[in-house]
Amino acid sequence: RDSVKTFLRRNTFVIFTVAAVALGVVLGFALRPHNLSMREVKYFSFPGELLMRMLQMLVLPLIVSSLVTGISSLDSKASGKMGIRAIVYYMVTTFIAVFIGIVMVIIIRPGKGSRDSPVASSGSIEPVQAADAFLDLIRNMFPPNLVEACFKQYKTLYKKTLLTKNVTIVVNATDSFNSTDLSQETVEEVVPISGSSNGVNALGLVVFSMCFGLVIGNMKQQGQALRDFFDCLNEAIMRLVAIIIWYAPVGILFLIAGKIVEMKDLAQVGGQLGMYTVSVIVGLLIHGLFVLPLLFFVVTKKNPFTFIAGLLQALITALGTSSSSATLPITFRCLEENNHVDKRVTRFVLPVGATINMDGTALYEAVAAIFIAQVNDMDLNFGQILTISITATAASIGAAGIPQAGLVTMVIVLTSVGLPTEDITLIIAVDWFLDRLRTTTNVLGDSFGAGIIEHLSRQELQNQDVEISNFVIEE
Ligand code: ASP
Repeated sequence: RDSVKTFLRRNTFVIFTVAAVALGVVLGFALRPHNLSMREVKYFSFPGELLMRMLQMLVLPLIVSSLVTGISSLDSKASGKMGIRAIVYYMVTTFIAVFIGIVMVIIIRPGKGSRDSPVASSGSIEPVQAADAFLDLIRNMFPPNLVEACFKQYKTLYKKTLLTKNVTIVVNATDSFNSTDLSQETVEEVVPISGSSNGVNALGLVVFSMCFGLVIGNMKQQGQALRDFFDCLNEAIMRLVAIIIWYAPVGILFLIAGKIVEMKDLAQVGGQLGMYTVSVIVGLLIHGLFVLPLLFFVVTKKNPFTFIAGLLQALITALGTSSSSATLPITFRCLEENNHVDKRVTRFVLPVGATINMDGTALYEAVAAIFIAQVNDMDLNFGQILTISITATAASIGAAGIPQAGLVTMVIVLTSVGLPTEDITLIIAVDWFLDRLRTTTNVLGDSFGAGIIEHLSRQELQNQDVEISNFVIEE
């Protein structure tokens, strides 16, 4: 009986969280027949909304403090090596994910046959350029104003002069698929102008924090006060996470129940869209439950499924929130507390991973683009498929870790091979659902990455330990 007790005590949160998911599903389906109004659903999901807000509240200070402390606690050689390993891991796994997606969508061919739901004609002038989106990605790495980076990103806007009406309007990249005027007006000129959009510029903060950490790490004694400050800040944030984690099951219950009450009848999602959904799901499953675990096993010789079990709470939070950044605090906790991954590694690689490493999103973008090509009866040649894989990778790097960000960055992939961006409307109906699954895969990819990089960096970590203990003895 003692072992049962110990098991229950050790896994209290996980048990609560799994129970919350089950309860949420039951409650959601029980309430569906009552046809709640949008307002009622909003009230009902309120406890879930609160969880999202609490987690998001911690993300900014968590990203900055963990990166600064993580990097400044390593010498620059060690952090350089670790950084290179992380980048190689991110690139390799993202490409594998894209490859799996492409294979799935080519084998299953969800878009074959005539179109299920015709969409307003294409042939509009396409203002969005893939090149601009690429430049935006790089611009965002260097925010001119750090405070602004906490709530704004750079984004190219387009100034469009309509010949017929002689007016100028400014459009957003994503407007192209929900505005109807494009095809009807004669457009005189479409030029890119600078602009910005709301949402934290995590990429900019990540780049800044890494450089800052590197610099104060090299400042020896002089940098001690700053190192202590960020270390303490990080510790305090993690303590707040420990409190919020108690509330997480309640929030997840209502997030899931609310979404089930709100969702459209899934029975209507048949035909092409159904097969498209299946292609994405099968691809994500192969990547998350076969490829990544295999890679982890080959590198570390540890059991990948025990590793996944330790992550359960983070994975469920990702499923509930559709946001890898909101899940970040929980991912930290699971990896450090349950899977005992070295803090110097998690602090370094998790914030970067949550911002740029999105295997699930990359896989989904590739499948969606090729699906849209199939629906339009467009045969893609090898070069175009290659372009899709590269832009899908870029789009996944550029996507923020927030709900449905991948849908927005799809524009880059579609325009790169000349597919109509308004066809994004074809996949919107199931996106909320696929978003949850790809977010879970994203979090899984980041976590396995931390485990693999820790294993590969054990030499450097050990050297660092020796250095620290020598320093303490000398003192
Ligand atoms: N929601 C995803 C994430 O947070 C991004 C996406 O939309 O693909 O990881």
